[in-house]
Parts: sequence; C-alpha cells; structure tokens
Amino acid sequence: MTSQNLIIALTKGRILEETLPLFRQADIVPKEDISNSRKLIFETNHENVKLMVIRGSDVPTYVEFGSADMGVTGKDLILEYGSEEFYEPLDLKIATCRLMTAEPAVSNPVSDRLRVATKFTNITKKYFAERGKQIELIKLNGALELAPSLGLADSIVDIVDTGKTLKANGLEAKELIANISSRVIVNKASLKIKNAVIQDILAKLREAVEARLSRR
Ligand code: AMP
Repeated sequence: MTSQNLIIALTKGRILEETLPLFRQADIVPKEDISNSRKLIFETNHENVKLMVIRGSDVPTYVEFGSADMGVTGKDLILEYGSEEFYEPLDLKIATCRLMTAEPAVSNPVSDRLRVATKFTNITKKYFAERGKQIELIKLNGALELAPSLGLADSIVDIVDTGKTLKANGLEAKELIANISSRVIVNKASLKIKNAVIQDILAKLREAVEARLSRR
C-alpha cells in the first residue's frame, strides 16, 4: 500500500466496534484481535500501516502533533479540542448522537446567571457567547445529570442518544448544539507528505461508509 509509515489513531470502546468493520471493508485489517487486547498499537495487513487504540479525547492531540497521521473520533471531541492543525475530510456516520442542552422537566426559576454544568466547556462557552448569554460554567467530568437535582447547576450540556439517561434523572433535552458522529481527521502535514496513501484510504473508507448506509 505504501512505503511510508502511516499511523492511524482509533477511539477505543463503542466507537471502535463500529469503526473496525469499516476499516476491514477498506482493506485495513489488524493482525490480531484489537478488542480483546491490552496493547495500544497494532500491526495490520499492510506492513507500514499501524493502528493505535486510545481514548477519543486524546485522538485530536495525537493527530494535531503528527504523532498519528490520521484519527477517528467523535465530532463532540473535535469541536471541544478546536484545532487548526488537522482536516476533517470524512464523516463515518457511526456513533451518531446529539450534543444538547438539558434542563429539569420542572425547572426552577433562574435568579442570576444561568449555571451550566458540562465537560464540554469550550463548546458551551462558545454556544452561549454567540447567543449573547452570560453563564456560569461548571466543569464536571461525569454524572452531569445529577447536577441540576442537587442544586449545582440550572442546565447541563451533554451527549444525548435515546434521551433515556436524561429522563431517568428528571431532565429533558432543550436546544440542539450539534449533531455528532465519528469523523476521520488528518494531520495537515501528513496529508501533504503522504498524500497518495491517505487519499487512497479515504476513498476506500468513503465507499465503505456508503455501502454500510445502503445496506440499512
Ligand atoms: P441516552 O440515554 O441513550 O440518551 O444516552 C446518553 C449517554 O450515552 C450520554 O450521557 C453519553 O455518555 C452516552 N452516549 C450515547 N451515545 C454516545 C456517542 N455516540 N458517543 C459518546 N457517548 C455517547
């Protein structure tokens, strides 16, 4: 496929399970069972192409600095990271969900500035600033849904899929901030230096995405 080394950073967990079949269809197949391994880097059927498997939030960092040439991660994490150093040439249309604001179904009146709890602080700041709303941002890393009922926040910004998690915690989704899915990102310098092989992989992945959608 290529004489140049190419490293692709994949997101572990649920996104990986949906990514691997697309890569397989694009003829990039790991030599061993990634899902049941504790290794972080894997050989593939192409001698010079390696796959790394890391946390989704670390994928933009590896690709920004060129330690990985390409990566797959969620649009939420790409937006939150906000880099100019990589392109986002392909939507894999997997792991789809929505980034939304959510509030208690029975909401309390907000006296002062809206207090918004989220792990997506950059996206949230930008979203409310663009609407001219001053907020108090409360950074949490998990269990956001608890924040309103415990009086820590008036509103949250979080990922919503079916909405069951919100409902179970007495919350309801309000405003859509962004539609989310997993995207391929490519380091800008890598795209110049390794253009042919990267374009080849992107073309095959694009076909795999279309084939998957047409089967549904
Ligand atoms: P749900 O109850 O179906 O609305 O799922 C909401 C929770 O599932 C969120 O709090 C997220 O942590 C997680 N989740 C669902 N879909 C995704 C996704 N595509 N990427 C990351 N997390 C997700």
